[in-house]
Amino acid sequence: MTESSQSYRPATLLVQGGVDRSPHGETAEALYLTSGFVYDSAEQAEATFKNEIVHYQYSRFGNPTVSMFENRLALLEGAEACRATATGMAAVHAALLSHLKCGDRVVASRALFGSCHWIVSSLLPRYGISTEFVDGGDLEQWGKALATPTNLVLLETPSNPMLEMVDLTAVAKLAHAAGAIVVVDNVFATPLLQKPIPMGADVVVYSCTKHIDGQGRMLGGAVLGSKKWVDEVLQPFIRNTGPAMSPFNAWVLLKGLETLSLRVNAGCAAAEKVANFLAQQAGIARVWYPTRQDHPQHDLAMAQMSAGGTMVTFEVAGGKDAAFRLMNAFKLIAISNNLGDSKSLATHPATTTHMRIPADDRAKLGITDGVIRLSVGLEDVEDIKDDLAQALLMV
Ligand SMILES: *Cc1c(COP(=O)(O)O)cnc(C)c1O
Repeated sequence: MTESSQSYRPATLLVQGGVDRSPHGETAEALYLTSGFVYDSAEQAEATFKNEIVHYQYSRFGNPTVSMFENRLALLEGAEACRATATGMAAVHAALLSHLKCGDRVVASRALFGSCHWIVSSLLPRYGISTEFVDGGDLEQWGKALATPTNLVLLETPSNPMLEMVDLTAVAKLAHAAGAIVVVDNVFATPLLQKPIPMGADVVVYSCTKHIDGQGRMLGGAVLGSKKWVDEVLQPFIRNTGPAMSPFNAWVLLKGLETLSLRVNAGCAAAEKVANFLAQQAGIARVWYPTRQDHPQHDLAMAQMSAGGTMVTFEVAGGKDAAFRLMNAFKLIAISNNLGDSKSLATHPATTTHMRIPADDRAKLGITDGVIRLSVGLEDVEDIKDDLAQALLMV
């Protein structure tokens, strides 16, 4: 499946996209568990290193199983090129550090995944890169920050854990006028529910650990963008610094992609039901879910996403004690900091994933001590609701 692949619909691309069959004609993608490759002759090796012919050289630079995963994800995203990395954070780190140099400036939305926040606030300044955070939902703040020439904008929408939206089209316009490329961490939306590139993003990053694996088995990451940027900016950085994805992980993630739309669609339908159920319960102060009318940015969410996603965030009345009592009473839902899994997972962000964010920043983000983030899994939604209901009796 090559030339006409672009015209296939997402569910088809997820199963067939990027398949590169060996001469054996295997049905499933072959797993090339090899670190290196051999050449027919010294001349062929020389021509490969001179870039005169295309031949795999070493799995740090490229591997056929990893390439199949990259090509499938690129087709789904509608991106010209993709590079897979060992983890989501390796993808974010490579996207930023390959593009930036001393003296550059970065503007980012405050509501970032904890490690992304650390890279922007602590790591980049060590290399002489200045950084500024803005409230992602506030276009006036973006406008002010991007009145100064800038090299890169990093944002996450919907954000973790408060499901705050950033207006991708408007921010991309401001960013490009300031001279910046726009890097979007699209993990919460998944490649199915939101397409940042047509809205103006230059680079999209994923933690494949989340919905793309979706079955809690492994870590992985991906960076997608134009062929020119990936070849000239990203690939030399990846090739020489080594955040490569293992071929085994790429093989499992190829299988993860095959069921991505089935799993994400089921998760979205269940999450919406869970959000509506929680909103009716005494003891729940507030629910955040993008397709609900009471989401503070409901219209924007509906304009840039095709469904609400698999994450529901809610605030328990009674603060940390009540939130802990609720979580400890779950029988089906597990306590975990992970998300995007087939198993339903609950997180208390203020004491775990977001505990290192200074308290006043946490308050600005709305992450109170009563907030719980629920990653809705693939169990029967009635059992998830029953578990929430019996736990709420304990609060
Ligand atoms: C998990 C996550 C990451 C980091 O990915 P890893 O695979 O854990 O390294 C980055 N951004 C978001 C939004 C995430 O949820």
